Amino acid sequence: MRNWCGLVDFSSTDRVEPASLAEVQQAVARSPRIRAIGTAHCFNDLADTTGTHLSVARLPVDLEIDDVRSEARFSAGIRFGELARLLDAQGWSVHNLASLGHISVAGAVATGTHGSGDRNQNLSAAVRWMQLVTAGGDVLEIDRDDPRLAAMVVSLGSLGIVTRIGLAIEPAYQVRQYVFDGISHTAVLESFDEIFGSAYSVSFFTTWGSDLTGQVWMKRREGQDAAWTLDTWMGGRLCQVKQHPLPGHDPVHCTEQLGIAGPSHDRLPHFKLDFTPSSGDERQTEYLVPREQAVAALASLQGIAPRIAPLLHVSEIRTMASDDLWLSGAYGRDTVGIHFTWVKDPAALTLLPELDDLFEPFGGRAHWGKLHATPAAAYGRRYPRLVDFMAMRSEMDERGKFGNSHLAWMESSAG
Ligand SMILES: Cc1cc2nc3c(=O)[nH]c(=O)nc-3n(C[C@H](O)[C@H](O)[C@H](O)COP(=O)(O)OP(=O)(O)OC[C@H]3O[C@@H](n4cnc5c(N)ncnc54)[C@H](O)[C@@H]3O)c2cc1C
Repeated sequence: MRNWCGLVDFSSTDRVEPASLAEVQQAVARSPRIRAIGTAHCFNDLADTTGTHLSVARLPVDLEIDDVRSEARFSAGIRFGELARLLDAQGWSVHNLASLGHISVAGAVATGTHGSGDRNQNLSAAVRWMQLVTAGGDVLEIDRDDPRLAAMVVSLGSLGIVTRIGLAIEPAYQVRQYVFDGISHTAVLESFDEIFGSAYSVSFFTTWGSDLTGQVWMKRREGQDAAWTLDTWMGGRLCQVKQHPLPGHDPVHCTEQLGIAGPSHDRLPHFKLDFTPSSGDERQTEYLVPREQAVAALASLQGIAPRIAPLLHVSEIRTMASDDLWLSGAYGRDTVGIHFTWVKDPAALTLLPELDDLFEPFGGRAHWGKLHATPAAAYGRRYPRLVDFMAMRSEMDERGKFGNSHLAWMESSAG
């Protein structure tokens, strides 16, 4: 079995897909080594194990909505986009979504997956409750009143098998998506706050091509963002036909644009859920930098743009609000995600050490689910609660049942 992009050949000996909580407990209790797998969209070997891969995708979804607490509980293996549709059918919505809805909720929250928006925290930060099966096969249920939840949400799959999740929800809302072309890097650097503060969720896409211009994708929330009237903005033009983030690609599978209002689950992701992005013909890297360092980090990247551009499909810049989750990329700081979608060329991976060096002085944290060359010794510096997390992990999983070589290597010099 391989991960979504085919880069990682998993070392697991078998795969189980229990249909009940009791079966998950039995599988965990009898396995000396076991690890949860979601939709395998991680670009690196974080999800790998030399033992059993366990997927919770067959557990009954069993969606429960608590109107009073504005919380939805459901089986953790559901894909985010499917959950959002089920919620919408009952008049509810999540606060944000990633670029595509094909990833499992459990896998997304375990790695600090995010969308965009100055006031939007990442998807993990919406977790209010979790049910997980711990190393001995016992069931642990934990909510926001328990301070351990902040440690356990971005778990990297290493504390147990998450079987059910409770997420904060809000009444369903509509979003209008607009795309602007020809916005210069200079405008982004000079007017960063104005651009990213212009709507509920904003992304800047660039190929780092020689003209150093890109597209702003603006997702305006009905009832929160004012109606949009301008055809030109920040030196760019409002696109009158639908766009794809990758120049020259057919936008047919992109979510609706041109300011047409639609349900949030059909506008916040860039790609439609019904389209299966199966090629995997790409590699991704992302660094999460403190917001106040973002402009300087982007200016530094411009210095190596001529070397990035030939290896790149596209870069995306997004913002997110600070949170308190120990291993979150946005832990303790408003954050900007600087993302690279590379072409499938091994040469792209040779840039990773240089990128890690570039982001180090800006306090960049590599996205847990993407490719990077962070040295083990750097993790402790970048994640102030990593040592505490490791102590919790040792306590909850004394024999390292949920561990793997990725975690062992990372932890080897972090402490
Ligand atoms: C095309 C594409 C677009 C992407 N877009 C974004 C984006 O917009 N924003 C962003 O931040 N990231 C993005 N990502 C990265 C992606 O969100 C993460 O890699 C995420 O972890 C994938 O979820 P998954 O279900 O595939 O997890 P997997 O790759 O299957 O697993 C990831 C981790 O989660 C753990 N895990 C999975 N299920 C469970 C469970 N039930 N219990 C405990 N642990 C579990 C695994 O053990 C592993 O450590 C994108 C990736 C791709 C391929």
